[in-house]
Amino acid sequence: MSNRIQRWIPSIEQLAILVKNNSEYEPIAHDVVITLLRIAVEEFRQAAANGSLMLPISSESEVQSWILNRFALKKQVLLRQSLKKAINATGVVLHTNLGRAPLSDRAKAQVTAVMEGYSTLEYDLQSGRRGERYSHVEKRLTELTGAEAALIVNNNAAAVMLVLAGIARGKEVVVSRGELVEIGGSFRIPDIIRQSGATLVEIGTTNKTHLQDFAAAITPATAAILKVHTSNFAMVGFTSHPSPQELCCLAKQHQLVSINDVGSGTLLPINIQGTAEPTVQECIDAGFDLVTFSGDKLLGAGQAGLIVGKKIYIDLLKKEPLLRALRIDKLSLAALEGTMIDYSTGRAGLLIPVRRMLHMSEDTLLKKAEALFAILKPLTVQGWKINVIKTRSLAGGGSLPGIEVSGFGVEVEPRGKSAGVVVDGLRAGIPPIICLVREDALIFDVRCLLPGDDALLCAALMKLANEETV
Ligand SMILES: *Cc1c(COP(=O)(O)O)cnc(C)c1O
Repeated sequence: MSNRIQRWIPSIEQLAILVKNNSEYEPIAHDVVITLLRIAVEEFRQAAANGSLMLPISSESEVQSWILNRFALKKQVLLRQSLKKAINATGVVLHTNLGRAPLSDRAKAQVTAVMEGYSTLEYDLQSGRRGERYSHVEKRLTELTGAEAALIVNNNAAAVMLVLAGIARGKEVVVSRGELVEIGGSFRIPDIIRQSGATLVEIGTTNKTHLQDFAAAITPATAAILKVHTSNFAMVGFTSHPSPQELCCLAKQHQLVSINDVGSGTLLPINIQGTAEPTVQECIDAGFDLVTFSGDKLLGAGQAGLIVGKKIYIDLLKKEPLLRALRIDKLSLAALEGTMIDYSTGRAGLLIPVRRMLHMSEDTLLKKAEALFAILKPLTVQGWKINVIKTRSLAGGGSLPGIEVSGFGVEVEPRGKSAGVVVDGLRAGIPPIICLVREDALIFDVRCLLPGDDALLCAALMKLANEETV
């Protein structure tokens, strides 16, 4: 039986002709067609041999359709995007796994313009000669932060690495034990210092480090004092650390470079429920020689690492060979410049999505939740329960550690399906929708929903509600 079926398998050439003549298929390269057909044929052989064809096969043409169906599925997978738009219904504004900051309109337009053709990336229009990619944002950054000079790299991890390599390679860097943090799994301060070629000198204790501890650790081999923002955790209770001013003063006395990895790096003050993030301007005012921060956290641009500070040190970093390996690409740079212009207008709070989301008033959030509730109402016909609820969520992205922002959302309790099954269904949809689950209910926090997301969310839930449970 199985032998007869095997003999019905058409040749790869015959199958390729059938594929070529089928206008329903979007064209793909001939050698890719052959590879996929071979895999499909092999799968047919195996399924026939172990009796797992799933369909009764009693003719040559049925064999052919089995293989071509398999081919069509493989082709679909081949052309399907993996990195795609997703809907963030978690309420976490700077969700690292969901791509951190959505871009402002101006940043998007700037990225599109630069992406579609040639650009002035490293071309100086005045002289008609080679220019510097950093020049496009340096002036704006110095104006906005009060720093003398600025440099941009791939991300903040790269910024910290470059600064340490350029300033302290082969020398010592003094850091408080309370600030030897791990951020996001792969960024650990002790590892980055080692990678940069500098030597870590850890001082003080986890909860308390005194100015005297820093002073006592300084030797002729010391190059810098590093302060790190403990982005993703908060220490409470019996704690103390020298003030930024004291640290910078000590560094100056000993002719050391003072460095501050401030993590999120906000340009506008941000104060949520009494907790503030230090602004970059405050770090510069305190006297730090070099300050590094991320482009896609509270700043609200694309991935980037920003370094601002004293011109002599920035000039030194610009000569560092490592810079070439860490440099920022033109699309992220375009997003950053667009966002910087938003800051220059003085209307950043309105123009930049993450700023808008973080500062959305409870009133606005309640209205958003009520609007979502209204379009989800038809689900109640199926017996699903829907309620507007209060939510609490984190800012995320290593900012405002431990501070929960309160907001609003819609709680949906499915009927005839478990909440887990519905969550899986939403994740598998296009676009995937990411939400929270609490016991038997799904929670859609409205803070991070963008225009159009409500309708997509509603359509996805309706589809799942109307689907037969299997
Ligand atoms: C987030 C963060 C980093 C890493 O920044 P990326 O831009 O993600 O590379 C480094 N240091 C601190 C303190 C941070 O919060």
